Amino acid sequence: MYTYYIGIGSNLGDRENYLSFAISELTNTEGVHSVVHSSWIETPPWGPVEQGPFLNGIVKVVSSIEPADMLDTILHIERLAGRQREIHWGPRTLDLDIVWIEDTQGYMVRVNELRLVVPHPYFWERLFVLEPLQEVYPDFLYQGVPIRVRLEELRSVES
Ligand code: ATP
Ligand code: CA
Ligand code: CA
Repeated sequence: MYTYYIGIGSNLGDRENYLSFAISELTNTEGVHSVVHSSWIETPPWGPVEQGPFLNGIVKVVSSIEPADMLDTILHIERLAGRQREIHWGPRTLDLDIVWIEDTQGYMVRVNELRLVVPHPYFWERLFVLEPLQEVYPDFLYQGVPIRVRLEELRSVES
């Protein structure tokens, strides 16, 4: 069994509806035992492409699905939501990223494959990931640093 923390975002069309769609698809996936999500927060777009604001959150999924199959599952849900892959870091109806995985003992699971890298390479830099992550996982620590401390750091750099 694994606990997945999946980043979710949308900045095209009915954003809230795409996020709800992803939650119901995940909930109805075989091998998924529970799905809990953070509040949705509105965040400015990230990266070089000019685009509208995102609605972002974190989804906590407990599941027996192996990481590579979970990637296929979320890519499939993105396609069902009409996700087009055109511009890298461009606008999208739905984006699902596997941010963090733990095993049954609570140990982090690392994946380093061509198609899947976990922990997600940029998660520790992104307020729009860490803010909702703190909500569902307030005791989260990365390399000994509490998430609360990291958020303070990032917020002070931003302002
Ligand atoms: P970023 O990863 O910086 O947030 P993005 O979400 O816009 O960028 P995508 O175009 O959605 O990037 O994803 C491209 C590919 O990234 C996916 O097809 C997938 O194979 C790969 N990938 C690698 N690691 C992960 C991960 N942890 N979660 C989701 N996709 C991943
Ligand atoms: Ca992403
Ligand atoms: Ca993605």
